[in-house]
Amino acid sequence: MKRVIVIGGGLAGLIAAIQLARAGISCTVIEKKAYPFHRVCGEYVSNEVVPFLKSINVFPSQFNPPEISNFMLSAVNGRFETMPLDLGGFGISRYTFDSFLFEKARALGVEFFLHEEVETIRFHREVFEVKTRANEWKADVLIGTFGKRSRIDQLLKRQFIDQRSPYVGVKYHVRTNHPNDLIALHNFPGGYCGMSNIEEGKTTLCYLSHRDNLKQYRNIRDMEENVLFKNPLLRAAFRNAEFLFKRPEVINEISFETKGPLEDHILMAGDAAGMIAPLSGNGMAMAIRSAKILSELVIRFVNEASFTRGMMERSYVASWNQNFRSHLWKGRQIQKLFGHSFMSKVAVNLVMHVRPLANAIIRGTHGDPF
Ligand SMILES: Cc1cc2nc3c(=O)[nH]c(=O)nc-3n(C[C@H](O)[C@H](O)[C@H](O)COP(=O)(O)OP(=O)(O)OC[C@H]3O[C@@H](n4cnc5c(N)ncnc54)[C@H](O)[C@@H]3O)c2cc1C
Repeated sequence: MKRVIVIGGGLAGLIAAIQLARAGISCTVIEKKAYPFHRVCGEYVSNEVVPFLKSINVFPSQFNPPEISNFMLSAVNGRFETMPLDLGGFGISRYTFDSFLFEKARALGVEFFLHEEVETIRFHREVFEVKTRANEWKADVLIGTFGKRSRIDQLLKRQFIDQRSPYVGVKYHVRTNHPNDLIALHNFPGGYCGMSNIEEGKTTLCYLSHRDNLKQYRNIRDMEENVLFKNPLLRAAFRNAEFLFKRPEVINEISFETKGPLEDHILMAGDAAGMIAPLSGNGMAMAIRSAKILSELVIRFVNEASFTRGMMERSYVASWNQNFRSHLWKGRQIQKLFGHSFMSKVAVNLVMHVRPLANAIIRGTHGDPF
């Protein structure tokens, strides 16, 4: 039996592991943290994933995730417009969702090594050698689902890792009176902030800011008061909320540069293959979809002697390009409309007056339900 190792137990890694375990394939996930834990993420999941999650019995219905069907966009000056979303989504925290998927995977027999960070990888004579500080494994297939930025990117000398990225991401959970069916995207100079509800009546408040804002004001609180609060809707949102974290979750060096789904025979899914700009609200759906496509090919490689590694790799690269390359490009272009006073006004006008175009733009970064 061929053995599969998955590096990184985020959405992509957990879905790949669940799919492989369901097909009876022995699978090990190595994750540097331990569940449950918070991540910087807007926590709005596009409905395109719902049929698939239900089909493999991992839709998190027991947490009653709010159904989100309306979109509000505000410009830096607070002018806003609301429109219905074609497809919509649901809201669930990564703290709950990832840990729920982890339990599902464990129940299916997936082996986990937590608090273990992969430090070296070698592919030699058709076998991968994977090492953490404490352990060492061998595998026939290696799946890279280690997210947007990892020491493995450095190890593989991936091009994007040398380029400094200008973005910082910040997330809070709050209690406030945000409507259950609404995802709001508020612009501020140099960034945008998403607000939508999750389980237990909580709201996620998550923003992406240019790092110059943080450099100028030195700490997050001062940056929020001096930059985010320029948008009166954001000022009101922050002032009227009860903050549930002692301190925010923060990440930096968020890069939307091109990466790729295959590196040194490692099959990459989710953000490790390419990260879409967060304003599209589609990174999680892409992680789930890419893990599904990838695991289906790995299942063929394990089960069919005539389906060689080369065939698996070529099929995955072709399929990944077909499904995601144009979404990533469109996400990068739309990102340019945001965090800028003039362009954010243009975007709000677009939602107000040219709704079919606004719909087409949103659709351009999403896939069809699967
Ligand atoms: C500010 C912001 C807001 C966002 N908002 C949304 C949103 O509202 N909706 C949406 O759909 N998407 C959103 N996204 C994108 C979404 O969060 C990602 O696309 C998604 O998390 C990708 O999942 P993943 O499994 O690829 O990676 P991750 O979920 O990041 O998982 C990667 C895992 O790999 C582990 N890891 C890394 N290196 C190693 C190593 N060497 N050894 C072992 N483990 C390792 C990490 O600990 C992590 O658990 C947002 C992103 C940002 C930055």
